[in-house]
Amino acid sequence: MLDSIDPATGSKIASYEESSPDDCLAAVRAADEAFRSWREVDFQGRGALMERAADLLERDKDRLAGLMADEMGKPLAQGRSEAEKCAWVCRYFAEHAVRFLAAEPIPTDARRSFVTFPPLGVILAVMPWNFPFWQVFRFAAPALMAGNAALLKHASNVSGCALAIGEIFAEAGFPDGLFRTLLLRPESLDLVLERPEVRGVALTGSSEAGRSIAAKAGRLLKKTVLELGGSDPYLVLEDADLELAAQACAAGRLVNTGQSCIAAKRFIVVEPVQRAFTDRFVEILRSKRLGNPREPGVDLGPLARRDLRDSLHAQVAESVRRGARKELGGEIPPGPGAFYPATVLTGVRPGMPAFDEETFGPVAAVIEARDEADAIRLANQSPFGLGAAVFTKDATRGERIAAESLEAGSCFVNAIVHSDPRLPFGGIKDSGYGRELSPFGIREFVNVKTVYVR
Ligand code: NAP
Repeated sequence: MLDSIDPATGSKIASYEESSPDDCLAAVRAADEAFRSWREVDFQGRGALMERAADLLERDKDRLAGLMADEMGKPLAQGRSEAEKCAWVCRYFAEHAVRFLAAEPIPTDARRSFVTFPPLGVILAVMPWNFPFWQVFRFAAPALMAGNAALLKHASNVSGCALAIGEIFAEAGFPDGLFRTLLLRPESLDLVLERPEVRGVALTGSSEAGRSIAAKAGRLLKKTVLELGGSDPYLVLEDADLELAAQACAAGRLVNTGQSCIAAKRFIVVEPVQRAFTDRFVEILRSKRLGNPREPGVDLGPLARRDLRDSLHAQVAESVRRGARKELGGEIPPGPGAFYPATVLTGVRPGMPAFDEETFGPVAAVIEARDEADAIRLANQSPFGLGAAVFTKDATRGERIAAESLEAGSCFVNAIVHSDPRLPFGGIKDSGYGRELSPFGIREFVNVKTVYVR
């Protein structure tokens, strides 16, 4: 059984029966059958159903936000925004897929030569709990619009959300079997992955999960797209607008109670502005309200699970043991919930978990740099390369650092790193490979097919 536990109280909300091997095989066969007719449906036909899915997400946003609050502790207002963003990505690909996947002529010595982008088949999606709807829709909207079928294995603690997603596609009128949710533990995935109908895997999750699935998919020669962890650096230079930087850094750290791959995690501040920035940053974080995610006005809910909260606290404690200073928070509050307060560590250096590892919760590591070059060196001294931001009033300087110096998939200047259906999203190094969203994302699970006519 897969249990859903309310992280605010520690009590069990529901138990879900796991899909059996027979269920998995039936789902693979149904998906493959649905794929064979779906690939013949034109973009207009596919787009009409995707628009309908967007309508349903908007109609049901309060209910879906309630599910997210129940299963992983997301404050309700953030859950409603997540449902709306899912509707946006559905509408975006419903409208633009036809253009992104139009055949491209390439002049050669042939009478006609061009590239087309037909779908691959059934794609397996392995997804995390932190944005339980967004992660799935940002994969599914382009994958289905490209003509593929999809099977979802969601994180074990959000089975209610996983089933709700399947219901949205069914109610929108997508063909039976084209998108199906399987309730599985990771060790039961091999059966699905090994089926020849399954042509690719998209995994969003930790680097460990990415390594494991990529090794198996590699052995089976199946395409993978991996969206993994991050430890995004935010550089604050001596000419930054400090109020803007402190506000953006606080918001970037606390998004989703700090449980976002692209949350700001390391704040690399040059020496002349270090004290002024830190004082304001701490003041803003101190003002944020931690509490029950169902109450209005709450900024931080509980973390999604108690074991995750305890590992985060162990990273804080070990960083302090190695010389970091606690400027705010850093203590586990009493009570049964998985709560953790906004925490600021200063004096963080390489060799401490708060620098070297991903901290998946509201823990900010402030790192002192001598100057711009030192800040860039520290930013890149990480196994991860997902997002990065730089704060400076000199836009040309910011653009140069973002474009040329920072090792990350997305680099923002004077703004919080965020995903947007129009922009490619993904990482380098241990943050994974491949891209989601934008024209680049929809071309991940297609056959880039050359046609040459003499
Ligand atoms: P996780 O433990 O890696 O789990 C992610 C998904 O992978 C879950 O469905 C999980 O199933 C499954 N899984 C775990 N180990 C596996 C294995 N060995 N083989 C196959 N599947 C496996 O990550 P999480 O705690 O849910 O999510 C947090 C992590 O995701 C963070 O590192 C975060 O940075 C990353 N993330 C990255 C992005 C991005 O776009 N780059 C976005 C969001 C989150 P079970 O739940 O059943 O274990």
